[in-house]
Amino acid sequence: MDVGFIGLGRMGRGMAASLIRAGHTVRVWNRSPEAAKALTGAVPVASAADAFRGDAAITMLADDAALRAVIVEGGLLDSPERPGLHLSMSTISVALAAELAAIHGRAGIPYIAAPVFGRPDVAEAGALNIVAAGEATLIDRAAPLLDAMGTKTWRFGDEPQRANAVKLAGNFMLVSAIEAMGEAAAFAEAHGVAGADLLDLLTNTLFASPVYKGYGASIAANRYEPPGFNLKLGAKDVRLALAAADAVGVPMPFASVLRDNLIDAMAHGDGDKDLAALARVASRRSGRA
Ligand code: NAP
Repeated sequence: MDVGFIGLGRMGRGMAASLIRAGHTVRVWNRSPEAAKALTGAVPVASAADAFRGDAAITMLADDAALRAVIVEGGLLDSPERPGLHLSMSTISVALAAELAAIHGRAGIPYIAAPVFGRPDVAEAGALNIVAAGEATLIDRAAPLLDAMGTKTWRFGDEPQRANAVKLAGNFMLVSAIEAMGEAAAFAEAHGVAGADLLDLLTNTLFASPVYKGYGASIAANRYEPPGFNLKLGAKDVRLALAAADAVGVPMPFASVLRDNLIDAMAHGDGDKDLAALARVASRRSGRA
């Protein structure tokens, strides 16, 4: 397929590389042009509009503000050449996802939401879990692209924003896991047990799953750089979950605690470190950082 890819950050560059490996023609645009030039086999284009056409356009931008700036304020929905489909893969708010679905509908551009689970190495391997929602025939049409980027596409119905709600629910659980490990490690340390030993036991037994093992290894090694998933992007997701919960009258008290702890981490200069650095908050509070 002829694909345009917008946003070559840590995730986007691996996803675009997976599409190239699968034989698709991939025109790429990134705000900082070096990333586009560095991607072997891709066709760098001069503007986002040049990428927003063809059989499908994929966006993998940081957040609501970035997507709004590039797609809405950038005027892409009014450009004469339109993509056959917009596959929106960033983790964004449920509210913006609903708004995008509506304005794409008015502009006559098919839109599906397909946020992802998996870190940059998983994106590079084409092994993401992709959460898709939107018209079923559109998801079918995007299948060759989704299959190139992911191991499995999980479908959640016709309303695109449902995929974003699922993604935010997942990231809420992910950040909760990191917080739990941080507190447990600080508790163990205070009782003379190395946090690394505790996490070695638990992440290889009761909690032997990718999130606990991956982030647990970083916490055990006190290794938070280079970031795979920036802590400030994790904070964005918890805030988005809280806003979406508020909108439907669902209390999420634990998410409120996570938000405050992430603010604590950012206030101590850890916003651009890996999300695992959230564990340093519990450690610092125990007087042992
Ligand atoms: P990243 O490395 O920080 O990359 C962000 C991308 O957005 C870059 O291409 C950046 O361009 C672009 N961008 C930011 N603000 C912009 C603006 N105002 N205008 C135009 N472009 C802008 O982030 P990432 O880790 O790839 O994450 C991308 C998305 O995937 C996020 O929604 C994130 O929550 C989600 N996600 C991440 C992970 C993970 O483990 N990293 C996993 C699943 C989902 P520049 O290069 O010019 O800065």
